[in-house]
Amino acid sequence: MESQVKSSVMDAIGNTPVVRLARLFPGADVVAKLEYMNPGGSIKDRMVRHMLKSLPAGTARVVESSSGNTGAALAMASAVLGLRCDVTVPESTSAEKMKRIRAYGAEVHPCAPDDGSDPAGGYHAVAERLAQEGGAHYLDQYQSILNREAHYLDTGPELWRQMAGEIDVFVCGIGSGGTISGIGRYLKEQQPGLVVIGVEPSNSAYREAVTATPAAGPFASIVEGVGKRIPSRSFDPDVVDDVVQVADDVALAWCRRLAREEGILAGGSSGCVAAGIAVLLPRLAGKRIATVFPDSGVYYLSKYF
Ligand code: PMP
Repeated sequence: MESQVKSSVMDAIGNTPVVRLARLFPGADVVAKLEYMNPGGSIKDRMVRHMLKSLPAGTARVVESSSGNTGAALAMASAVLGLRCDVTVPESTSAEKMKRIRAYGAEVHPCAPDDGSDPAGGYHAVAERLAQEGGAHYLDQYQSILNREAHYLDTGPELWRQMAGEIDVFVCGIGSGGTISGIGRYLKEQQPGLVVIGVEPSNSAYREAVTATPAAGPFASIVEGVGKRIPSRSFDPDVVDDVVQVADDVALAWCRRLAREEGILAGGSSGCVAAGIAVLLPRLAGKRIATVFPDSGVYYLSKYF
């Protein structure tokens, strides 16, 4: 018998299950990787673990700007590693997510909305300032190549193995773009011809970056984690074949259906991607479709459910 004891919670990241969505998409072949089953509660545990491997020696304090999940992942890792941790979030971030970060002993800094109205008070600018003033290391998931690299080296190969290579289309929500870019690149290298399709809220910037279709209005989604006013540098448009947009009410309706019909209590971005798959299904008949559900619905009980 070999001991299965982990040396810390960081070693419990990954190996999340892949589940068929047979009740929501009967007759189709759609599966989702349940990333909310990571110990920090989201897919961002993987990226943070990868980024901390190259933490400069002697670092005692880390800072990150986050829609909440990266903050929780970093706060969890900081607890294990004994680092001081500051997380900046848009003030619209759910109360549960802020409490979750604080519960790990990190400090949360609610910032101006990410709508461009107050760039100096926004969560990116405040994180940069905190890092400079405090001599802290800023992970910067929206710029760092390590974001998509984590998914290229870890999440992508894990999904490919679990699917035994049987994927035709990878559909994925886009926030920083790290997940779709990293997993998408890995999968396409394994199987040329595999199609990668992004899903985002209405009027987010990635559809234009891929298809040159401009947004019809300002970006103003309440679905956390997906969509950006300006494309992030972590997004690799070369990997993505198409992007579809989903209205918030439709995304949240699918989020509730996931809980009630599949028993999958996932966040709004999972509802968004499920809604995107429903839109795409007629043109993907017979294809084997895989996606990831980034986080849990537990963090949005009072906001979406
Ligand atoms: N969903 C949720 C809930 C998230 O927190 C994130 C990360 N912002 C995403 C989706 C998108 O992942 P990525 O940043 O890798 O594009």
